[in-house]
Amino acid sequence: MTERLAAYAKQLFNLALSAEQQAQFAQYAAELEAWNKSRANLTAITGIEAIEIRHFLDSLSILSVVDVPHGARLIDVGTGGGFPGVPLRIARPDLRLALLEATAKKIAFLQHLARVLALGDVQFLNARAEEAGHQPDQRERYDVVVARAVAYLPILVEYLLPLARLGGQCIAMKGESAEREVAEAANALRILGGRVARIETIRLPEVAEPHYLVIIDKIAQTPHHYPRKPGIPAKKPL
Ligand code: SAM
Repeated sequence: MTERLAAYAKQLFNLALSAEQQAQFAQYAAELEAWNKSRANLTAITGIEAIEIRHFLDSLSILSVVDVPHGARLIDVGTGGGFPGVPLRIARPDLRLALLEATAKKIAFLQHLARVLALGDVQFLNARAEEAGHQPDQRERYDVVVARAVAYLPILVEYLLPLARLGGQCIAMKGESAEREVAEAANALRILGGRVARIETIRLPEVAEPHYLVIIDKIAQTPHHYPRKPGIPAKKPL
């Protein structure tokens, strides 16, 4: 079943998945479906084929366009059911992964998942990004900060940039509004110390609409009063 995922990962992203990694993806899909039915409303995407492409392959697309160094510290902000962070960690066990999620029941799922998949050392943060961005062990500590489907870009950069180290990168996974959101985030990026390096287009098999990866360099330290208090970035985007 995950042979199809492995074939696409190889063909599209030149990413080789071992039998063990394929088994982890298969188990991940099964856990997602089981928890989705019974407990946490983790994803609107159901069915193994859609999960493989719209969750797993979509998450892995990051590795095809960004050179993530060996052993990099990576945080996934608003990870929900683990996307894109968990697929990245399955494909790249060297990554030092942190999963940040405001909803406790989703963190419970992720902790269960990490045990079942034997992911090893993963950091779970049950917090809002606006809080984590002020914690000394989180602020400006990450080489790579990623997020998918969390917020409109002017808001999202206030969640992501405080966590990225100077010289690090943020990657926002976006839909068709990517370019407009980038234009509207100009002020927030200037204030928070980010600069858009490029926008990459991702085409997934059997998916009509392209996806976009907005790659943002952290070029200056974020002023200490950002992020603002929980809820304020969304209420009053910069
Ligand atoms: N990234 C996952 C994906 O693509 O499948 C989940 C997307 S879901 C639409 C958005 C998630 O972000 C939710 O689980 C929500 O609890 C979380 N979230 C939204 N705002 C947040 C914040 N300020 N801090 C932490 N988590 C947040």
